[in-house]
Amino acid sequence: MLARSLPRDRVRITLLESEEIGTVGVGEATIPPIRELNAMLGIDEDAFVRATQASFKLGIAFEDWHSVGERYFHPFGRFGASLGTLPFQSYWHELSRRDADRAGPLLAYSLPGMAAAAGRFCRPSPDPRNALSNISYAFHFDASLYARFLRSVAEGGGVERVEGRAVATRMTADGAIEAVVLSDGRTLDADFFIDASGFRGLLIEEALKTGYEDWRHWLPCDSAIALPTSAHEPPRPYTRSIAGPAGWQWRIPLQHRTGNGHVFCSAFLSADEAEAQLRSSVAGRPLAEAKRLRFTTGRRRVAWNRNVLAVGLAAGFLEPLESTSIHLVQSAITRLLALFPDRGFAPADLAYYNHATAREYERIRDFLVLHYHATERRDSAFWEHCRAMAIPDTLRERLDLYRSRGRFFPAEFDLFLEPSWVAVMEGQGVRPAAPDPLAAVHAERLAELLPRIRGTIAAAVTAMPPHERFIAEHCRAPAAA
Ligand SMILES: Cc1cc2nc3c(=O)[nH]c(=O)nc-3n(C[C@H](O)[C@H](O)[C@H](O)COP(=O)(O)OP(=O)(O)OC[C@H]3O[C@@H](n4cnc5c(N)ncnc54)[C@H](O)[C@@H]3O)c2cc1C
Repeated sequence: MLARSLPRDRVRITLLESEEIGTVGVGEATIPPIRELNAMLGIDEDAFVRATQASFKLGIAFEDWHSVGERYFHPFGRFGASLGTLPFQSYWHELSRRDADRAGPLLAYSLPGMAAAAGRFCRPSPDPRNALSNISYAFHFDASLYARFLRSVAEGGGVERVEGRAVATRMTADGAIEAVVLSDGRTLDADFFIDASGFRGLLIEEALKTGYEDWRHWLPCDSAIALPTSAHEPPRPYTRSIAGPAGWQWRIPLQHRTGNGHVFCSAFLSADEAEAQLRSSVAGRPLAEAKRLRFTTGRRRVAWNRNVLAVGLAAGFLEPLESTSIHLVQSAITRLLALFPDRGFAPADLAYYNHATAREYERIRDFLVLHYHATERRDSAFWEHCRAMAIPDTLRERLDLYRSRGRFFPAEFDLFLEPSWVAVMEGQGVRPAAPDPLAAVHAERLAELLPRIRGTIAAAVTAMPPHERFIAEHCRAPAAA
């Protein structure tokens, strides 16, 4: 992204990476803005899908989150159509109260949601009058293949890659970073450093001691185990998130294999037990050793400190429940480009960057806490803890507002918009005490209009090909080596 945007004759970009250290190697589910990144980089989507063994993602199925045996879906994109001055769910609440059968489930008003349930996929129609224009999607892909793919894009764009291991930093008199020293004695000096070194935060933390805000009291999971298995069914066009006694498991279907993982809280479950639970519930044959990871949910106190900007895991970590981490890298670089510094590093630029980043992380944090806190589960100490725990005031306000009349208002730097919040609140059993009184204005028309919208969506879904056939016709990857 930087190579595409910065003037080549004035800015040189060097990427330092260490094969010896490697990447975290997980992170396979994404959200729709990644398509904007691909477009900005001039990436051909079919070539990208083939190169990364990718499949398409229309949302996430949350199983056993509300209560054991219950399932709901968080689809990408909006619900229904715009019918008046209120958001769609207000009209749906009104009709549900009068005639629940006629209103049907909220998911019936989501084209991506219904397509996911039917295992179908196609790209959106460019014609805005066509119901198929409302398809919002992202991808599941093999994280190491994606890293390799992006590396070739970056090198093609003029980025110089240096293989080596940073072991020390040289500082300026006023506490900024002057150079990074490699294990073989080479040094890399620069005006500006982007710390993308992963959880350690080599520059932002080890050198600059920036500090970290720990959010484990709100998001208690601190461990994960990843275990890829052979594909045992055609890839579904959605991620599965299955809650368990002390966390949840992911299922990410790729073309050549399934990514599986167990995210859990070590205070309630040992790593051995977590691995045993994962192994006993995956389908398919394990393809690698299980990989164990520990993490601290939270964010760096400031992401941009002096001449160091932290991105990715070095800037913070929000657990993968809504697949947001790769997006946060994209969003960080987008924001950096909007505030690109000169050697003076204007304090106002850094202050705005840090403010925006902090709010962005906090809004996502609230959305994740919602999944854990608003549950009816009482079957384990972990869920009792989540139900009883204190939650951020910003989340409490949103929940109170929705529980009153089903209202939701956007906040600055929200990544997840109203339809996502509504899908998860409804799925987790957060319901308004009464419909918005203004929805009654259209009460007569709703009984006729809403079933018509459902019918249009259902008909559009039947016109879509099965996900597997779409991949076969457009972007089947070569068989994995
Ligand atoms: C369990 C789990 C599941 C996840 N699932 C998702 C998901 O579904 N979707 C999603 O969007 N994100 C997910 N993520 C997050 C995602 O994996 C990361 O955001 C993404 O991989 C980016 O990581 P990174 O580049 O910041 O760090 P890393 O992948 O750790 O990369 C760090 C880089 O720095 C280099 N490096 C480190 N130290 C040195 C050194 N001393 N010298 C030279 N080079 C060095 C390494 O070689 C490596 O290239 C998940 C994370 C975890 C832990």
